[in-house]
Amino acid sequence: EGVCAMDSGARGITVACRTRPVLGFEQQRGWYSAISCTGRAGKGTVHLHQPSLSFDRKPKIVDTTFQFDHAFGSDCPNTHVYEQVGKPLVSLALRGGVSTVFAYGQTGSGKTYTISSIVDQAAQDLFSLRPEVPQSYEGRRAKDPSLPEDPISLSLQYFEIVGDECQDLMAPGEKVLIREDRFKAVQVTNAKSVPISSPEEFVAMCVQAAGHRRTDATYRNDASSRSHSVCIVTVHNAAYPQSEDGRLHLVDLAGSEGVEDKKHHDKTKMKEAAAINKSLMGLKDCMRARTMASSAVASVRHVHVPYRAHKLTLLLKDSFELASTRQSHTVVLAMVAPNDVDVKHSLNTLRYAAPFK
Ligand code: ADP
Ligand code: MG
Repeated sequence: EGVCAMDSGARGITVACRTRPVLGFEQQRGWYSAISCTGRAGKGTVHLHQPSLSFDRKPKIVDTTFQFDHAFGSDCPNTHVYEQVGKPLVSLALRGGVSTVFAYGQTGSGKTYTISSIVDQAAQDLFSLRPEVPQSYEGRRAKDPSLPEDPISLSLQYFEIVGDECQDLMAPGEKVLIREDRFKAVQVTNAKSVPISSPEEFVAMCVQAAGHRRTDATYRNDASSRSHSVCIVTVHNAAYPQSEDGRLHLVDLAGSEGVEDKKHHDKTKMKEAAAINKSLMGLKDCMRARTMASSAVASVRHVHVPYRAHKLTLLLKDSFELASTRQSHTVVLAMVAPNDVDVKHSLNTLRYAAPFK
């Protein structure tokens, strides 16, 4: 249906890396960029320059490179990132598919910046990229004038996963439950679901929800680095009463540096950090299983996907399943800070994402 215009085609996974400019205060600290991106849409390369110890602090180029579907460099505008990886997901969800994008990377790498820019740009498209209304619906509407002219209705859910608990960001203080029912369908219960009737309303709701995150906008060690935030847009299409709803998941993951900075953590934070680490590793396991299952090898059709290991992966179960009945597409955004002092973290992030390619 024209939705599979994504470079990675039937594989259903797009892996992109994005870096950002060195920020003003980082320059003031004498940090410099140790990352560059080359290539084109569909085939991008990230070059990681190991910091040298030479007196002039010029980065010494070592041949650490990674290939992804896209490598968005520090001068790459949000509009380009959205056109390449965001828009196709919106289009797929509007056509009844399961779309997912998640941003992975250390705190300060630009995860929230990028996900929120995708939210902003998706707002218009959620209303303008609509598929054609089928004749059959027009026919039904002629007989039943109570049917709406526009068969598509959107609703929004927004919550955050802290440790193994989910907090509703649309209804602060309320807990969301994620579990499998006896038919193995994932049920999200008690999450407030709000109908969305315009782009402006969508953005306003998202901003409000994100504001309820356990966040302050400070640089490192902010609270958001310890939670995953999940924004879900559900697309109901009355023209296809038999079909399941389309879904768009926008996921801003917890900071990947997690357990390392042990010295700052008290007991509770240590526990949280361990849970984060576990969920990020769980996500990796699921992505890997999905990559294997979608590979051309027919013998690995029944790969076990361990999505039950964590709330995050259970929630995204449909994104990992290669359903025969509905399309799904997942975009992995490997976010890396450009600074020389962050090379170790960046290397970890790129290694995390590389097997999904
Ligand atoms: P994270 O969510 O990964 O912790 P943020 O999204 O908060 O990181 O980004 C950290 C800082 O870098 C913020 O001040 C943000 O505005 C800035 N930033 C991130 N990406 C870019 C970019 N592509 N261009 C300019 N500034 C950016
Ligand atoms: Mg953030």
